[in-house]
Amino acid sequence: MQHHPPDADTRSAPHPALTRQGYTGRFAPSPSGPLHAGSLVTALASYLDARAHAGRWLVRIEDIDEPRCIPGTDQLILQQLLALGMHWDAAPVWQTRRHPLYQQAFDQLHAAGRTYACYCRRRELPPSGPYPGTCRPGRNPGLPQPHSQPAWRFQVEPGVEAFQDRWLGSQSQNVAATVGDFIIRRTDSLWAYQLVVVVDDGLQGITDIVRGADLLDSSARQRQLARALGLPCPRLLHVPLLLDPLGHKLSKQNHAPALDLCQPLAALQQAWVGLGFTPLSVSSLEAFWPAATAQWAQRFVS
Ligand code: GLU
Repeated sequence: MQHHPPDADTRSAPHPALTRQGYTGRFAPSPSGPLHAGSLVTALASYLDARAHAGRWLVRIEDIDEPRCIPGTDQLILQQLLALGMHWDAAPVWQTRRHPLYQQAFDQLHAAGRTYACYCRRRELPPSGPYPGTCRPGRNPGLPQPHSQPAWRFQVEPGVEAFQDRWLGSQSQNVAATVGDFIIRRTDSLWAYQLVVVVDDGLQGITDIVRGADLLDSSARQRQLARALGLPCPRLLHVPLLLDPLGHKLSKQNHAPALDLCQPLAALQQAWVGLGFTPLSVSSLEAFWPAATAQWAQRFVS
């Protein structure tokens, strides 16, 4: 499908005094369902952050986990974004068309001695805590029986991974102690989210990741992978999740309803309030974007 470049006049202009060169952000939806009120919060935050920095905003369709994807949802999400006035700055990419890039990254890690085949079955692993390193080379004489479909794990570095989150402040995680060596290629041969997201962010030149706080826990792992691949670590900003009245994350799994595109401004205002701002006194999409961008810039662009 051809993706048409956005009309220049529908983009919101950044605040001239608050621009930053060299910003590339992204929104990376998994096409397992249409956008809902929760995913719009993330899309809105990443879009505003890019516009407030006079940066580029890319859309990446994270369809690598094909069994979980619903055909046609990718196009639906793109249409939803356009209907909300959110225009990407380069043609969207689909992860399922990028397998050779993931293979290359995997080969690089393998050549560097950072991967190993893991034959542990789920039922053999402790229910919680880090992967005990059973299959780590040279670690354990009692290796499980090799079989044809191993998973592949990344050997993590010991010690604490510390980083700044632009919303949440100082963060740290001891990946070895809490997660352990983690899977980058699954037993069904699919590339794992952790690997593909790092490869894509690196190759697409993403400088800033803005996403939901449910992915904060993956950040330390992703920083280790980026370093091992010689890729820069993007800046991070994790936004709060929208919760349903019972306190559950609004998600496709919880059957959050698709956005009502007859009321795009109302949907954006709801997401804006979800980000902790007060509703904007605007009556059109065209007025929403510059007003929201200016407020976002005030708070998040230094
Ligand atoms: N595809 C992930 C999701 O839809 C987002 C991944 C990311 O932003 O790193 O939740």
